Amino acid sequence: VYDRKRHMLAVPEKKPGESQPERAVRGTWPRLSDEQQKLAVSRERAHFDVLRKRIPNRGMHFHETRRFFFFTDIPQQTVDKYLVPYMDKMYALLCDAYSLDPEENLWVGKAVIVAFVDESSFWQYEQAYFGYSGRGAQALCNRNRDGSVVVAGYGGDDLHYFSAAVVHETTHGFNYRYRTRNDLPSWLDEGMAEWVANHVTGGDRGITQRIQEATQRMRKTGSMGGDAFFKAEQIDAVSYGQANAFVGFLASYNSKATKAKKTPAKSKSYAPHEPTTFCKFINGIKDGAAWEASLQKVYGTSLDDLVGQFGVSQGIPNLQR
Ligand SMILES: [Zn+2]
Repeated sequence: VYDRKRHMLAVPEKKPGESQPERAVRGTWPRLSDEQQKLAVSRERAHFDVLRKRIPNRGMHFHETRRFFFFTDIPQQTVDKYLVPYMDKMYALLCDAYSLDPEENLWVGKAVIVAFVDESSFWQYEQAYFGYSGRGAQALCNRNRDGSVVVAGYGGDDLHYFSAAVVHETTHGFNYRYRTRNDLPSWLDEGMAEWVANHVTGGDRGITQRIQEATQRMRKTGSMGGDAFFKAEQIDAVSYGQANAFVGFLASYNSKATKAKKTPAKSKSYAPHEPTTFCKFINGIKDGAAWEASLQKVYGTSLDDLVGQFGVSQGIPNLQR
């Protein structure tokens, strides 16, 4: 789930004459200078100061890692256990999937994680800063026009579920920042977010359950849902599990051949490796190709054929798209 409207990170106490961030345009994200990155980081720190005063909370505190800011009123011990380690793991996993050097900063400043104990604080925050008044999600990714990413949510009763939701949403932010502003189709973006969250958190119950439900549905209907799945602007909740499983299938396709080419890393330094088939598929979309054309080109076969192979791998022969 994310807001496709693309807001700006709003710091209400804006000084007059402060330069306006650039307008949204399609294309490659600009590479930011060290100076611009420093400015972005200080803007994010300022956002923390403002929001902790404006949004009711149970004692907001601040935690910083190399790639993330955590603004939260969830106790520090819990944050250390359920959020911080997963986020760094997620960053490393996605850098590997996209053949990126993990030393490079993909974000504008850092990705900001705003996590409240109370649901009401979460929605007040979304309303105040992003004008979002929807309900239902436990976390949301706010993808801002200047490229900055703010994932916000509330902890609720099940913190393991919450951390999977935060990893899921932050994957949307990573996909947004990767390469160009071009969006991935919903099934692919949601599928990746689920797939990454599952890997990083070591098998969340909710995610596993969603895969089981989707497999049952595919078995019953013999189909992935056709255009309602592949062309949806936002896939429905029941389809997250099948998006996850299909992305897992696409990501491991040809992976043996690609892994063999990988240079063994002798030191901790980054060893560039040939992008996987899955990565090339995404690159095609990010560089402007229609997703089905990129799929056909990179995998060397049609969507229908890949869906058939996926079905066989799931024990559902003759599966239709
Ligand atoms: Zn999502």
